[in-house]
Amino acid sequence: MVAAAEQAWRAGAVPIASAEGFIRQVLGWREYVRGIYWSGETRMACMADAIAQTLTHGYAHHIQRLMVTGLYALLLGVHPKGVHQWYLAVYVERMSAGSLCARCPYRPAERIGENACPFTTLYWDFLLRHEQALAANPRTVMQVRNLARVNEDERARIRARAADVRTGQIA
Ligand code: SF4
Repeated sequence: MVAAAEQAWRAGAVPIASAEGFIRQVLGWREYVRGIYWSGETRMACMADAIAQTLTHGYAHHIQRLMVTGLYALLLGVHPKGVHQWYLAVYVERMSAGSLCARCPYRPAERIGENACPFTTLYWDFLLRHEQALAANPRTVMQVRNLARVNEDERARIRARAADVRTGQIA
């Protein structure tokens, strides 16, 4: 958009004040939105890596977008339009595999407790919040069946920890 506006000015199609004003708005809005949402300040190694890379380079590969930031936003219950706008604002457009969990203070196999991975806690909280709807769908009923092994006390602890994640007490 910026390049097109500059080109329009160079071609004499618009006055410089209009082109400059438009370009300032586009660049300024991108910087504003970029700074207003996620800062990347989190102890979660996968999220910190994906967000920091995004804010530095304006790029994240599809696994980071789909399975890290996108999945986390879904489980957290973030407004979809807000995430959509953030994606539009921060990405310009490398694949790397390898586990970040090994150098993360959280443990992906734990859903409750001091070291429980926020992804895992939110995943189980998501199952609890949507148990009925997920049980009615043959594609997701298997996941819901795993809830049978989670007693009431543990359910309450999952919900409490998920609430702490949502309020930013765990990040
Ligand atoms: S343990 Fe959880 S938060 Fe940490 S890197 Fe792995 S998935 Fe991400």
